[in-house]
Amino acid sequence: MQFVSRAQWGATPPRSDWRYVDGTRGVKIHYEGTAVPSDLPADHSRCAGRVRAIQAAHLADRNEGWIDIAYTAVVCPHGHVFEGRGAHHQTGANGGASLNRDHYAVCAMVGDSGLTEPTEAMLHGLRDAVEWLQRDGGAGPEIKGHRDGYATSCPGGPLYAWVQSGAPRPGGAPAVQPPAPQQPTGPDWPGVYLRATTHHEAARIWQQRMRDRGWPIDVDGWFGPASAEVARRFQEDCTTHGWPLSADGIVGPATWKASWERPVS
Ligand SMILES: [Zn+2]
Ligand SMILES: [Zn+2]
Repeated sequence: MQFVSRAQWGATPPRSDWRYVDGTRGVKIHYEGTAVPSDLPADHSRCAGRVRAIQAAHLADRNEGWIDIAYTAVVCPHGHVFEGRGAHHQTGANGGASLNRDHYAVCAMVGDSGLTEPTEAMLHGLRDAVEWLQRDGGAGPEIKGHRDGYATSCPGGPLYAWVQSGAPRPGGAPAVQPPAPQQPTGPDWPGVYLRATTHHEAARIWQQRMRDRGWPIDVDGWFGPASAEVARRFQEDCTTHGWPLSADGIVGPATWKASWERPVS
């Protein structure tokens, strides 16, 4: 998966904490629904700016009152998966509270004019996003369209036909996975166990790392009960995904290492 983190595309922080979700029944597919330039597939350098524009538009939408970009992720014509609210955070895009609890929301950069047909790379990216949310976000097997259960044309005819056919990868074969990007190894463990309550520069470094990973956490160098709870949930999430850690809410060497080395995607 070609994953673009919030930090990499220049996301604005959410206005308030995301609502945590353990998991969902699956993922709903969306499209932008407005005009998307038909020459966008020729120029990936414009994609991050489009994601920033979507976030800005959502933050400016007073009717919706969104705290952030509404989507869990956005997929560009080149198949890159731009992190939106991310895994374990409730989406705002599906049309209502229960709809938002039930499914994540992944938006493809196609519209109702201009670029209306998904590219092959985009379909791979959508599958990548779904599989990422199944692996790291507790998403169930359902893949649906925004219009399933809500009155909207979204995600448009071509994408909805793909959803209804079971959202297959193009060509019917698994995509060749590009080599995983080299994960930064991160700073050495500072030699101090972060537990509630510790006030230490290392706490600030770890908090910043967790915030970059998408966890709602204050970066203040004060490892209090809220930080311990984030640590505990992170440890559980690691264990669920094959990186076993004891869920004690204490950041020792193993949790510190996982905070940098366990892939975010
Ligand atoms: Zn939609
Ligand atoms: Zn792109």
